[in-house]
Amino acid sequence: MSTVFSKIIAREIPADIVYEDELVLAFRDIAPSAPTHILIIPKHEIATANDVTIEDEAALGRLFTAAAKIAAEEGIAADGYRLIVNCNAHGGQEVFHLHMHLVGGRPLGPMLARK
Ligand code: 5GP
Repeated sequence: MSTVFSKIIAREIPADIVYEDELVLAFRDIAPSAPTHILIIPKHEIATANDVTIEDEAALGRLFTAAAKIAAEEGIAADGYRLIVNCNAHGGQEVFHLHMHLVGGRPLGPMLARK
């Protein structure tokens, strides 16, 4: 089942795209959690982190290369930021096309609430 992210890749629905190459696409999150909140996605659909295979390594590595480039362009590299990949229900995944959140632009606090 294709997701809204496939429609963004196909330009069937709009998105504020900040980076694209042959392997990945990056665009601003529609409901940002911080001044910079960008989603970086492989152009081919991988549903979750559980579904990653060796064939995906080039695109998944590129997520990090793109994140570093975008963070520099956003002016948040020196102060720092957070890269997040959510998986399934306990991870809070909502869109089942694997994606990396690049979040920054303010202090983000502790990674997880300690309970
Ligand atoms: P997840 O919870 O799956 O890790 O994150 C999904 C993210 O996708 C959420 O932060 C949500 O705001 C974002 N999102 C969902 N639908 C759209 C959309 O149509 N456009 C954009 N730009 N972001 C979306």
